[in-house]
Amino acid sequence: MGDGVAPRLAIEGLTRRFDGRAVVDGVSMAIEAGQVSCLLGPSGCGKSTTLRLIAGVDWPDAGRIHVDGQPVVDGAARVPPERRGIGLMFQDFALFPHLTVADNVAFGLPRRDPGTAARVRDLLDRVGMTHHAAAYPHQLSGGEQQRVALARALAPRPRILLMDEPFSGLDDRLRDDIRDETLAVLKAEGTAVLLVTHDPAEAMRMADEILLMREGRIVQRGAPYTIYNNPVDLQAAAFFSDLN
Ligand code: ADP
Ligand code: MG
Repeated sequence: MGDGVAPRLAIEGLTRRFDGRAVVDGVSMAIEAGQVSCLLGPSGCGKSTTLRLIAGVDWPDAGRIHVDGQPVVDGAARVPPERRGIGLMFQDFALFPHLTVADNVAFGLPRRDPGTAARVRDLLDRVGMTHHAAAYPHQLSGGEQQRVALARALAPRPRILLMDEPFSGLDDRLRDDIRDETLAVLKAEGTAVLLVTHDPAEAMRMADEILLMREGRIVQRGAPYTIYNNPVDLQAAAFFSDLN
């Protein structure tokens, strides 16, 4: 922060306890606009709880969250979820079944704004779904639904997009392609992204920075190949060992 510009998302000492157990235990991170960070770790290590705290659907016992330098959670400051400028995309974040593809993408946008139709067209084009604009979700494949969900999440131009295992419902054969397409759309949009995954291959493929999480703590952070080549301990090495 030497140039005085705050990161898009800054988190310090984030802690959440359930029944006295710290499930998220002093997590800190900073994410810049246009950066994809992956919170990577085994099931149950506290990834989804971390995302819920950032989204504002759960409150931490301690710690601070700032967005573009503004306090979102900090002492008495508690900004509600809808005013955080944060978008969400979860694996089971289903599309609205009674709305067309175009109306799903337009859902979070102002109805009468002349920019809305253009924004929807642009996003559908970028996720390759223009020809399905009038279709309903049940007429689409899983991969197509995922692309529409991405367009819908990005439509209101969130400052930060939180993605929780967004590809885990997809067919193995599709997953690599969808990951690459998603990454291209995210980079073009310039959103700051925190992507949660238990899959090291996904983090290696998508992340600018990996945050390796274990039992509520970040045990290592860095560029994908730096972590891959210099795992912090045997457990981290074992976690990456299935990759080739
Ligand atoms: P991950 O997403 O990494 O798989 P979670 O953040 O969902 O992990 O959960 C981390 C731990 O916190 C798990 O042991 C889970 O059972 C526990 N946990 C999550 N939410 C609650 C809750 N509301 N009450 C009690 N325990 C919870
Ligand atoms: Mg989870």
